Amino acid sequence: MSFEFPELPYAYDALEPSIDAKTMEIHYSKHHRTYYDKFMGAVEGTDLANKTFEEIFTGISSQSGAVRNNGGGYYNHILYWNCMSPNGGGAPSGALGQAINDTFGSFDNFKSKLTEAGINRFGSGFAWLIVKDGKLEVTSTPNQDNPLMDVADMRGQPILGLDVWEHAYYLKYQNRRPDYIDAWWKVVNWSAVEQNYSKAIA
Ligand code: MN
Repeated sequence: MSFEFPELPYAYDALEPSIDAKTMEIHYSKHHRTYYDKFMGAVEGTDLANKTFEEIFTGISSQSGAVRNNGGGYYNHILYWNCMSPNGGGAPSGALGQAINDTFGSFDNFKSKLTEAGINRFGSGFAWLIVKDGKLEVTSTPNQDNPLMDVADMRGQPILGLDVWEHAYYLKYQNRRPDYIDAWWKVVNWSAVEQNYSKAIA
């Protein structure tokens, strides 16, 4: 595949007040951009340049730290941006809403579980909703790892990703990660997550 640096799907200030414009600008134009640039530098001229994310991540344990950290950072942020929207929040309906109820008992139970996964991820990382063998699971990974990687504790297809690196919230929330996560729920783009779910169970 050809790896491109994607446009942010909304303006820097679009997720205010949940996520402030300055954080979005630095996060996208500096952090995400750097992961992309370093990933491209690491794969340029190698056979990885023509592979998909899935192909690279499934064998990530045999790749360099540069490919693992920057490839993960590049991929994870695309999912993170796409799973937020200025029109987000609320709860999913349809097949995903039903699957969440069936798996976790209720949307609120699911919300608590993902929130806890984000709060309890020590240091930097991501909390995830994934599809594993056709079923929903909540998990988390350190640093820029993700559940597509063969190094992950629990592997599966990520359909919703929550960035809990301090760079995602520190300017506005300082050390208050739980407050950031509470605000993040108000901008979750459920229609995007529903689409990710449909593809993952197809
Ligand atoms: Mn980040």
